Amino acid sequence: MKIRRIIVHRMRAPLDRRFGWSLNWTDHRAGSLVSVETVSGETGWGDGAVLEPERLRIALGRSPFEAEAIFEELRQPAGLQSRRGATMGGSLDVALWDLQGQALGLPVHKLLGTAYRNRVRPYLTALYRVDSEDLPFALAEEALDWKRRGFQTLKMKIGYGPELDLRCVAAVREAIGPETGLAVDSNCAYDVGAAVALGAQLERFNLRWWEEPLAAADLAGYDRLRQSVRIPIATGETCSADTLARDFIAPRRVDIVQPEVEWIGLTGARRLTALAWDHHVRIVPHNWNTAVRTATILHWCATMPEPEIGLATGNVMFELDQTEHPFRDVALLPVEPDGCIAVPQGPGLGIAVDREMVKQFTVERIVLE
Ligand SMILES: [Mg+2]
Repeated sequence: MKIRRIIVHRMRAPLDRRFGWSLNWTDHRAGSLVSVETVSGETGWGDGAVLEPERLRIALGRSPFEAEAIFEELRQPAGLQSRRGATMGGSLDVALWDLQGQALGLPVHKLLGTAYRNRVRPYLTALYRVDSEDLPFALAEEALDWKRRGFQTLKMKIGYGPELDLRCVAAVREAIGPETGLAVDSNCAYDVGAAVALGAQLERFNLRWWEEPLAAADLAGYDRLRQSVRIPIATGETCSADTLARDFIAPRRVDIVQPEVEWIGLTGARRLTALAWDHHVRIVPHNWNTAVRTATILHWCATMPEPEIGLATGNVMFELDQTEHPFRDVALLPVEPDGCIAVPQGPGLGIAVDREMVKQFTVERIVLE
């Protein structure tokens, strides 16, 4: 099984209604898929941006079973002997694991380790900033709708300034009641002084976690915030596997890490599973783009041991974005009536990618052969 061709599919679609968060507004969705074809006719898929597509050429002519070596060779910047550079090939790495599974007739989770579960409960990501004269009211209405659809944990954006943040969180918490899980994500909007002050006000809302209160590089800030605020602290969606391991998991700097397979691939994901469990840090994977990435994360989550023991466990979960996304469903992964999603059991990622939909939304196609 040799790799003969790699295609990067850059996709884009306009939205009916723009939405925003602390950093920006968007009126479209953009994302990339990578497909890897072998000489013998198999195709593997991965989801995630490829910043320097030409560098993926190093995989041509090689076996998908060299995924780990290729992952290491794609560290950035090129030629640096340091092991600290982020890999440039998370989505390629996932496609190679997909091909390995297809070659062996096994689902990816069986290659990654022990499968502890065959269904995983996601938490909901929505509740972004929208054009409204009364944002707290609009978010409360939306949150109630998601709760009625069966989601048990919701995540909302904050980072609009402490005064508006507090009004938004209060409105949502009141709408959904005390039983439904609620997390907040400020996308690094605050410095540590502002975050400590805001955190004291947020404590009363019984939050599951506070995501990216600070920039990931502000390690001393995370230390101060974590000592000051009685809310579980989460971060990591922008970090390489090495940075997550060194700066956040090994020193137990945060309660939850949220790695992104777009950057760390399944090779990095597999390494972090054992490390995080050993250090009593929970992994809740970040997830943004198509069902190819969701399938990747489902396989990963199947192999995560529970971070806690006891009757109240069941906290292995991942992010499920439900904001408007015209091409998210390039493969079908239905949410079951109780809110869980089944881990695919077919060979590789175990999904059927809708190639017509990929073609329909592709704005640039880069072919390496
Ligand atoms: Mg986030």
